[in-house]
Amino acid sequence: MQATDPSTPQSIDPTAPDSTDPPLFGMTLPELTALMAKRSHKPYRARQIFEALYRQRVCTLDEVTVLPVGLREGLSSDGYTVGLPEIVQSARSVDGTERYLVQMADGETVETVWMPDGDGGERGDGSIAASEEEEFSPAYRRSTICVSSQVGCAVNCQFCLTAKLGIRRNLTAGEIAGQVVAVLNRHNVKLGGASGSESPARINLVFMGMGEPFLNYVPFMGAVRLLVEGVGIPESRMTVSTSGIEPAIRAFAAEPIRPKLALSLNASNDTVRESIMPITRKWKIAQLLEAVGTIPLRTREWVTFEYVLLGGINDQPEHAGEVLALIGVTRAKVNLIVWNPGPGIAYTEPAPEAVALFQKTLMAAGMPTYIRRPRGRDIYAACGQLKRTVDALPTPVGAAAAQARDLVTIGAPIT
Ligand code: SAH
Ligand code: SF4
Repeated sequence: MQATDPSTPQSIDPTAPDSTDPPLFGMTLPELTALMAKRSHKPYRARQIFEALYRQRVCTLDEVTVLPVGLREGLSSDGYTVGLPEIVQSARSVDGTERYLVQMADGETVETVWMPDGDGGERGDGSIAASEEEEFSPAYRRSTICVSSQVGCAVNCQFCLTAKLGIRRNLTAGEIAGQVVAVLNRHNVKLGGASGSESPARINLVFMGMGEPFLNYVPFMGAVRLLVEGVGIPESRMTVSTSGIEPAIRAFAAEPIRPKLALSLNASNDTVRESIMPITRKWKIAQLLEAVGTIPLRTREWVTFEYVLLGGINDQPEHAGEVLALIGVTRAKVNLIVWNPGPGIAYTEPAPEAVALFQKTLMAAGMPTYIRRPRGRDIYAACGQLKRTVDALPTPVGAAAAQARDLVTIGAPIT
């Protein structure tokens, strides 16, 4: 339960005597303030480091020239580094999508995706990103970054390539937010800051990469706060997708700062859902919808239900009818995702007519329904295709295996 219990603090305590010199990137302002106090520096030094890490997005301590040389050298000699994750490989799709292999300090890697002009996922959800999408013109540029939350995933959805990796470990808040900063730096993105640049870039974040964000809840929410308060990306431009971790959805509903929610519904009844998403054994669709219903929706906020269409499994008109009966009353929209194939996964793509009919059936009943554009399929960057480029991974052992078991055993096993 540890990984899903949002009340369990999982942040790093920089003042702890045995702390192993954590990277500065990922620390909150109170943590930096405690670090400065421990080293007999005034609190404003912590604010300067916070600004340098998140707003100016420095890569080394040497770049933080506002700090006295002695303080910088002292931190360095005690082993402190900025510690941003590093882009070690990239692949570019014909459609402009770029997929990065991002390496953490311990050598573990995740994938992060840059989609110029977004992926159409925000259409109809009432957000700023959605109105921009709807008013899209060639002169208007905006981009979406798809962020990973874990190394691998424990949830084992049968149609997803990431599931094949199993879970190796959780990412820290700094490693989640750090993917965003690494990609922003690579593209030299200027975000509108306090000084107000003339044409700040519009960056949307989707937490839809590798992993299940709600099985790594505390670090994930920590990353969200760093990205909002530090990096300066509004929460209204962020969407988190979950396979449906009921207690975490309820905790999320109570968060003062939070992204929009997308629930991976993917089936119209528990029987089909359990066959493609074994986690349904733990939480039934009705429980998930009830939890989603506790989220106090903000002005212009709608909930997104994602629905991966698998040929012959969940793509028939009767399934569309069941979907309508399930979510008819919620302020909701549906994003249909045509299943993206991957090696070793024995599903088939839905027929184009089935996709069109599914959408038409939902639309005819008044449910806003969009078909997500597949992005970067040729480089395996599309939904559910994120799997490490280097595939020959050893099975986790020792602590990593224990952590994987904790993540999988959310009450009952989900495999
Ligand atoms: N773990 C989270 C977020 C990452 S997956 C979740 O499952 O919601 C992001 C989305 O991709 C989910 O809606 C998931 O159902 C979908 N997906 C996974 N594998 C896919 C595939 N092969 N083709 C299309 N969509 C897929
Ligand atoms: Fe994990 Fe999401 Fe893939 Fe399911 S669809 S295995 S929850 S990444």
